Amino acid sequence: MTKQFEALQAIPRREEPYHIVVTAAHHDDIEFGVAGSVARWIREEGATVTYVIITDGGAGSNEPDMARKQLVDLRYHEQLEAAARVGVYDVRFLGYPDGCLEATLALRRDITRIIRETKPYRVVCQDPSTIFVHRAYVNHPDHRAAGEASAYAVFPSAETRPIFPELLAEGYEPHKVGELYLNLTQEPTHYHDISSTIDLKMAALSAHVSQIGEGDDFENGAKKWLMQANRDGGSLVGVEYAEHFRVLKFDEERESWFQEETERREREAAAK
Ligand SMILES: [Zn+2]
Repeated sequence: MTKQFEALQAIPRREEPYHIVVTAAHHDDIEFGVAGSVARWIREEGATVTYVIITDGGAGSNEPDMARKQLVDLRYHEQLEAAARVGVYDVRFLGYPDGCLEATLALRRDITRIIRETKPYRVVCQDPSTIFVHRAYVNHPDHRAAGEASAYAVFPSAETRPIFPELLAEGYEPHKVGELYLNLTQEPTHYHDISSTIDLKMAALSAHVSQIGEGDDFENGAKKWLMQANRDGGSLVGVEYAEHFRVLKFDEERESWFQEETERREREAAAK
């Protein structure tokens, strides 16, 4: 275990049942990124979860004979199945065109509406600041747009009364979110042990047959790759499998930021 990540391992457990909203640009993003954590929060903490799939998934095939409408329908059902396999039965599809997503006010309003309606303690979204991932690839612009609209829906839109007065007219009162978890991040603050739910995560992922195939194609392709990625994450904190997040906590005392930053710098200095 490297020193730098020693203190980041545990995500504090909540005692009271609570609600989580997870947003993502595409069908299968949640299964790749955070479904192991979602399964733990549901099974071990009694959390309830809403998934928000922002695009229609219609760009998920390069096959010339795959009709867009046919693909959209297929992926809708795959996503419902994937969600159910970890215990999520509230899945919202916003239907924005796949591949051309922008962080518009209309999108931010749509996400704000769901936050005000379902009143989550925690929102999980994609880190909008990730443009390039190491030296490996360019992050999909849909992921960044989804993350930006979601983060700004959490703050300031969900909690600020004068923003989107049309939502007040629809009956949606302001709601303050407690925590924001960013996945697909280059600046993780937490590695979450998912060893107890890695099998559920893979079962959920396997529902996306149109994207990752089935049988040997799945076992030796997406599953093998993702198991290794989560194993690599786990090895940083001394557990078998982990997912990582940048975590923002809005309900803690302001002083803790300085304390946290001081401790982080001390850990980095000690690790050198
Ligand atoms: Zn994606």
